[in-house]
Amino acid sequence: MDRLEPYPAGAGVAALKDHSLSDVLPVAHVYLSPHLDDAVLSCGATIARQVASGVAVEVLTLFAGQPQLDTLSTYARQLHVASGDSPDMVGTRREEDAAACRLLAAGFLHLDYLDAPYRRDPDSGTPLYTSDAELLGWHPHPADQGLVAELVGTIASRYEGGPALRMYAPLGAGGHVDHLAVRAAALELQRCGFGLAFYEDYPHVQDGHGLVRALALPHAGGWVAELSELQDSHVLAKCKAIACHESQIPVLFGDGEEMIRSVRSYMDLTGGSAGYAERFWKSVSASDGQGLR
Ligand SMILES: [Zn+2]
Repeated sequence: MDRLEPYPAGAGVAALKDHSLSDVLPVAHVYLSPHLDDAVLSCGATIARQVASGVAVEVLTLFAGQPQLDTLSTYARQLHVASGDSPDMVGTRREEDAAACRLLAAGFLHLDYLDAPYRRDPDSGTPLYTSDAELLGWHPHPADQGLVAELVGTIASRYEGGPALRMYAPLGAGGHVDHLAVRAAALELQRCGFGLAFYEDYPHVQDGHGLVRALALPHAGGWVAELSELQDSHVLAKCKAIACHESQIPVLFGDGEEMIRSVRSYMDLTGGSAGYAERFWKSVSASDGQGLR
């Protein structure tokens, strides 16, 4: 299966042509989104600002594969029920993401890697993650060992490194195993010459502890923070884009009003005296000295 095919067949391409700048301009910013809402939840206002400045943005969602519904584990079934139990849950979520990206005028691609609750041990067939505690447990299952290298290969085959392209990846606050896999892949891509910044996984990051723990995870170097300062129009666009993820609003926020209150509140807290902001982190080695430019 070609993992780089947009989904539904042709719809992603149509979206790129009709609604984003990435068909006429080289992509300047790529958001690596573990799931079909992470980039918009964490970085939607920055995406809106970048698009408004006339550069092409693409959201690449990695774990958007279709599971076999007749073989769902008990845990995966529980998650489906909590999100409305659509007969085509992944298809519904892909459509929601397509609508969100169109609203932001960003290009999008959905890859076929399976979300963690759908993954099974290739030898025994046993589900790898069977509870929230395991899914958000900071420790990927040993059977996921080759996943990071596979992600690196897939991403590197689509984009060229260099100063004209910046990628954004989750920091992993919240300990979700899929977010940590994308973070690990991104750190490897940085070692290969790609420009990377790491975003705070919203809403996981709200409790504060996850951010501290994610920053403390071992990696070669330290972290430097970068604020993306944003206008009210960017915040509004972000909230509208998040609202496109209808199936996720009850799970994540309760309802739409609470989503808007929560998003505004965290962006206000993040920006402090600068106003609304989203925060990114750059992984720097000691030799980098001054950090961000
Ligand atoms: Zn996620």
